[in-house]
Amino acid sequence: MKRLYVEHPLQAGAQIPLDRDQSNYLLNVLRSRAGDQTIVFNGRDGAWLAEIVPEGRKAALLFLIEQSAEQTPPNDLWYGFAPLKSARLDYMIQKATEMGAGIIQPVMTRYTQVSHLKLERMRANAIEAAEQCEVLNVPEIPEQTSLGQLLATWSEIHGDRKLIVADEEEAAGSPIAALNALEGQRLGLLIGPEGGFAEEERALLRDQAFTVPVSLGPRILRADTAAVAALAVIQSTIGDWR
Ligand code: SAH
Repeated sequence: MKRLYVEHPLQAGAQIPLDRDQSNYLLNVLRSRAGDQTIVFNGRDGAWLAEIVPEGRKAALLFLIEQSAEQTPPNDLWYGFAPLKSARLDYMIQKATEMGAGIIQPVMTRYTQVSHLKLERMRANAIEAAEQCEVLNVPEIPEQTSLGQLLATWSEIHGDRKLIVADEEEAAGSPIAALNALEGQRLGLLIGPEGGFAEEERALLRDQAFTVPVSLGPRILRADTAAVAALAVIQSTIGDWR
């Protein structure tokens, strides 16, 4: 059954107007008819079974019937990355959403190749991934920040949250021991740009008490691969896969 993300509060009997794209998708792509059902979620009120009420050929309402799944708690995992170019950026946002990132923070670094970010597109990708993967939380995607700013304000904003930094210049090895040592702590993960961190950035990262550099093995991974690999190993050792 198709799942749709909406912003409205969800409760029994509520009627939710769909936007143009969602109406078009249901009515003209899926060819839904009056009385067909779908699932909706808003990131707060769980998943709901809803009946489609077409209003002409271009607009539709959803009539909420009953909750079909309880809301899952928000994901606490912070994920920062240096933005990539379009297709890889889309991929990165989708995968981070599927892997359970709660906040996806674009971080500009010296070798970041993208300067103008399309936040709306990134948010749309996160919503699409959540809809497809039956994730009930859509990660928050704040405005971009710079690496310097991120590190300077980290403790003030994030308290004692640790920042795991994937760094291919760490001696190649398993990240598992370093991750296990973080058991029970609030976590962040930072992945560098395609060109890697600059030397002065690496020095700055290593200077911070809250950073934990980790290796992801003997091969250099592309940034999007590194993101999925790191999130998988974090979730499976000290995260929500257990
Ligand atoms: N130094 C590079 C490659 C950067 S790879 C170059 O000059 O092109 C992009 C990012 O993926 C890195 O910044 C790092 O965060 C992560 N990464 C890739 N391979 C990794 C590895 N083997 N261990 C840890 N992090 C890795």
